[in-house]
Amino acid sequence: NCALVLVADPENHKGNWRALFKNSNPLHLEIGCGKGRFIVETARRNPDINYVAIEREQGALVMATEKAMALELPNLQFLDFDAAGLTEIFADGEVDRIYLNFSDPWPPNRQRKRRLTHANFLALYDCILSKNGQVHFKTDNQHLFEFTLEEMCGYGWLIQNICLDLHNSGLDNIMTEYEEKFSKEGFRIYRLEACRRDEDTLKRAHTPPRTAEQLARKARGSVA
Ligand code: SAH
Repeated sequence: NCALVLVADPENHKGNWRALFKNSNPLHLEIGCGKGRFIVETARRNPDINYVAIEREQGALVMATEKAMALELPNLQFLDFDAAGLTEIFADGEVDRIYLNFSDPWPPNRQRKRRLTHANFLALYDCILSKNGQVHFKTDNQHLFEFTLEEMCGYGWLIQNICLDLHNSGLDNIMTEYEEKFSKEGFRIYRLEACRRDEDTLKRAHTPPRTAEQLARKARGSVA
């Protein structure tokens, strides 16, 4: 039954995912979707976006596909796949947004390369993301959040909408299974959005500083 929402040959769709969905809508990816609550509800609310959810743990993946099957969503497909191989299944610039929700924190420092926000993974995301593509990241783990901020800054990405207590922020939010569990246990939820910057944007960000007088006038509010 799962075959209807599970893509068995993702390599064959590289560069051509929109054809699978039979439209030219934006493509959003969730990596490590777990039991799928977030991506199923997100896809239900946004029929004009195509979603692909990746999960390497089959037990969780089966539960996610069952949720999707029940709703018959034409804009959501799942992959039994490891994120390390992302560039084998998505072409350069093919993905518009990546969601990372409650990624495993791998606490020992010697295991940091396994974290899905380690620079080695950011390099993969940088390849497959479109020009100003984004990564949206949520976690209950303060250490992983700080690590992620540092890795993303080191990569030159623009970090936006940082939230240190999502559930008390009034922001619209679709909960994941882990999110519900951890927040019930009293953990705060951290969230950020990172925007990949193309060469032109990076150049503009590095224009030479103004004169001291201009900067002072700006700080006093006398110029725009
Ligand atoms: N997003 C879900 C699950 C979080 S647990 C939720 O919030 O409820 C993290 C999930 O990421 C696990 O299910 C794990 O199997 C998956 N995962 C970790 N590393 C992965 C990788 N390299 N590729 C694919 N999935 C991965």
